[in-house]
Amino acid sequence: MSPANAHSAERAAIRGDSRAQPPKSTNVSWCNDLVRSRKSGPYMRHEQWAEAGLSTLSVHAGSHADPNTGAVGTPIYQNTTFVLGDEQYKSFEEGYARDRFIYTRYGNPSQWAVQQKIAALEHAESALVFSSGMAAIASSVLALVDKGAHIVTSRDLYGGTYGFFHEELPSLGIQTTFTDMRSPEAISAALRPETQLLYFEALSNPLLKVANIPVLAEIAHKHGARLVIDATFVTPAGCLPLELGADLVVHSASKYLNGHSDLIAGAAAGNRKWIDRVWERLMHYGGCLDPHGCFLLERGLKTLSLRMKAHAENALKLAHWLRQHPCIEAVYYPMLPEHPDHALSKSLMRMAGGVIAFEMKGGDAAALSLCSRLTLPKQATSLGGVESLISLPFNTSHAALTEAQRASLGIRPGCARLSVGIEDVDDLIEDFERALSSN
Ligand SMILES: *Cc1c(COP(=O)(O)O)cnc(C)c1O
Repeated sequence: MSPANAHSAERAAIRGDSRAQPPKSTNVSWCNDLVRSRKSGPYMRHEQWAEAGLSTLSVHAGSHADPNTGAVGTPIYQNTTFVLGDEQYKSFEEGYARDRFIYTRYGNPSQWAVQQKIAALEHAESALVFSSGMAAIASSVLALVDKGAHIVTSRDLYGGTYGFFHEELPSLGIQTTFTDMRSPEAISAALRPETQLLYFEALSNPLLKVANIPVLAEIAHKHGARLVIDATFVTPAGCLPLELGADLVVHSASKYLNGHSDLIAGAAAGNRKWIDRVWERLMHYGGCLDPHGCFLLERGLKTLSLRMKAHAENALKLAHWLRQHPCIEAVYYPMLPEHPDHALSKSLMRMAGGVIAFEMKGGDAAALSLCSRLTLPKQATSLGGVESLISLPFNTSHAALTEAQRASLGIRPGCARLSVGIEDVDDLIEDFERALSSN
């Protein structure tokens, strides 16, 4: 192929397979009619992992075997572009450019390695990594809705996602209804003929409300809509949203997937048909993860299973200790029997991650004072790193809401969110004991 033809073929390729274009109507049935003549990419083989456990997958799935050196572990392919050969030219022409290495925004071995690991962990056909959780969420949502569509989601939504739905999507003619994630009746009542997407978080921030994924999937699919689950707080160690009926699972990999508070990244996983569409948005909006970030994420993921066990064990012990302390009004953790979603979490989740919330007697002033006395948990937003972090919703994640609005979500004065790290839990308990006794 001549370079000029290659250029026009490239443009055709980045527009995507013409047979995969969404129709103008808001009917989503086209999603099931996509046909494509793609060949699978060199590393997209999951059969070998079908029987492996989470820890084995965390360590081994996706690792790129470098034929030249035999390096153990995936080398960092810090390059923007790849030499074009017959296969690459053909992939432009035939519409499977996603499956060949051409340009790092389209795909790179460092990305493929970590994508395959995430796909294997989520029991997904395919996965993509992004430069942030928000890039993953924006690309995934925009892949599944048409102009004029309607989305149903929860009022308890991560702030960035709320902003995306509330401030960005209306300019594309896309409306969102924010409902009570615990009420299937309210969610069903919010559906409109043009509803194309239900979007929920597996565990909400900060009160750890549990999304009933099978029920949400049933509501969505009966209506011909799709279900996207943000599983940032639970990870594949806690539950597998795709197996429970979700169409796509998205993550802020900045949290538990990477796990070390040293990388901003995102991920989306699901069947190949959807992920191909998400990939087109990734191509156009540009939120690709650079190769060095992929290396960090792949390295972090290798200990996912170990870390999540430690987070969950520490969180449960600390939650039990806090709930008997006289300065504490209430503790929220799905694995505590008094949590309103305890039974649901037991039926859906192997573990509930490491985030807990609690309410101090004495309101926000008492919670602020506690934060200043703790020495191990640092005051910072974010979660899911090996170190414990504490923040108060009233002056961070939910600062834009009035006290009454916070109360309507169940966030009362004195509420603190704690991302329990993997420190020795006795040291954490001792730190809390000392900080609370001098409060
Ligand atoms: C942090 C977070 C996001 C956004 O992720 P970034 O990596 O910061 O872009 C989305 N959803 C949830 C639940 C989060 O905690």
